Amino acid sequence: MTTSLEPTVPVAAVLGVGDELLLGATVDTNGSWLAAGLSDLGFRICRRVQVGDSEAVIAGALEELLREADVVVVTGGLGPTPDDRTRDAVARFLGRPLEPHAQVLADLEARYRARGMEGVPPMARSMALVPAGARVLPNPRGAAPGLALDTPRGGLVVLLPGIPSEMRELFLEEVRPFLLARFEGRLRPLLQRVLHTTGIPESLLAESVQRAFPQGMGGVSVAFLPDLQGVRVRLVVRPDEEGKGEEELDRVADTLAGVLAGHLYTSPSGDLAEALGTALKARGATLAVAESCTGGLVCRRLTDWPGSSEYFLGGVVAYSNQAKRSLLGVGADLLEEKGAVSREVAEEMARGVAWRFGASVGIGITGIAGPGGGTDEKPVGTVWIAGWWQGEVRARRERFGGGRHEVRERAAQSALHLVYRWMEESGGKGRG
Ligand code: ATP
Ligand code: MG
Repeated sequence: MTTSLEPTVPVAAVLGVGDELLLGATVDTNGSWLAAGLSDLGFRICRRVQVGDSEAVIAGALEELLREADVVVVTGGLGPTPDDRTRDAVARFLGRPLEPHAQVLADLEARYRARGMEGVPPMARSMALVPAGARVLPNPRGAAPGLALDTPRGGLVVLLPGIPSEMRELFLEEVRPFLLARFEGRLRPLLQRVLHTTGIPESLLAESVQRAFPQGMGGVSVAFLPDLQGVRVRLVVRPDEEGKGEEELDRVADTLAGVLAGHLYTSPSGDLAEALGTALKARGATLAVAESCTGGLVCRRLTDWPGSSEYFLGGVVAYSNQAKRSLLGVGADLLEEKGAVSREVAEEMARGVAWRFGASVGIGITGIAGPGGGTDEKPVGTVWIAGWWQGEVRARRERFGGGRHEVRERAAQSALHLVYRWMEESGGKGRG
């Protein structure tokens, strides 16, 4: 990265509007999402600010941010209620009248008609008012469109609705291409790869990475982003003037993929349940799940994915020993002798649920999520996870840290991972 080029890097600021942001009732996730999106595009982010629902304060913040920023992206306060002040504040700040916009009004009418209403409610008509000269960014998910306005001194103000799903779609579909065109040649979007890992602590992961690159990674910077699902490894490079950097990134990513193989999974969304679904589908395999301490979490994660009925047959939450016996056929003597949290019981659960559902793959999970119920031999966080795949079993014991929530989330992830790895290692797609 050449610092002499830095002054030409366009600058962006993000402004969140809403009393609820100030009060802490809503976390400003829009702000972080937008800051990430804008910096990925190649903007330098100079500031992120939150203000309440006041015209004067919104205008004051804009004035200040526009001194440094080429673009200010504002979210919130575009709705129809009297506390939605952004549109008025910006119109007044720029000295532009608010005018009814024919297309926006027509969209609003169609929207309300589709909901069986006669016309646009009077209060909602304010959403069709647009500061003169503004560019309208259509919002297919909601009523209030986004708006882009040029300021007299060459700055740009972009207004987006506060509802996160609407804001995101508008940013990706409308704002992003608009900014890329407008700042053409000045933006060098960051290049990045994300490797999803699970089942390896951040510190061990970082050590493996360091060992693989004793001399450092050149222009590639690496970040370790842990959460309950595992650790994401984010590789970023700022391309050189010719826009090159992909090769370097690929080289680092390939090396890391080799080093971390046993812990990696590939899914566009970052969700291991999606990755497992793809792996099952590719093999024509079907899955059933028996859960104890996770109480249905694995089933929920699998069914979060549309199309999961192609490979997921169903599950049983067998919380009591009685349920493990009667619904899954786990032997009473086994439960007595080994205890509910044991390798043998997890295996019987996996086998039993696959048999009951006629699935080619079964998962069994039994553990102690806490806070009570731990012993010296089986402390809180002990979870046995088993997989059954056409006659073979695999099991592993986990010792998770954290509270009940963490143990359950980690156990669900580990169970998905056990079967996912198994499928990946088997390579061939024919086994079913
Ligand atoms: P609408 O047009 O739907 O009324 P709006 O532009 O008026 O949207 P707000 O009324 O400010 O937006 O907020 C709508 C919803 O979006 C609220 O539930 C709010 O909590 C959420 N929201 C607003 N701003 C943010 C933010 N910065 N981060 C995350 N959520 C937000
Ligand atoms: Mg609103």
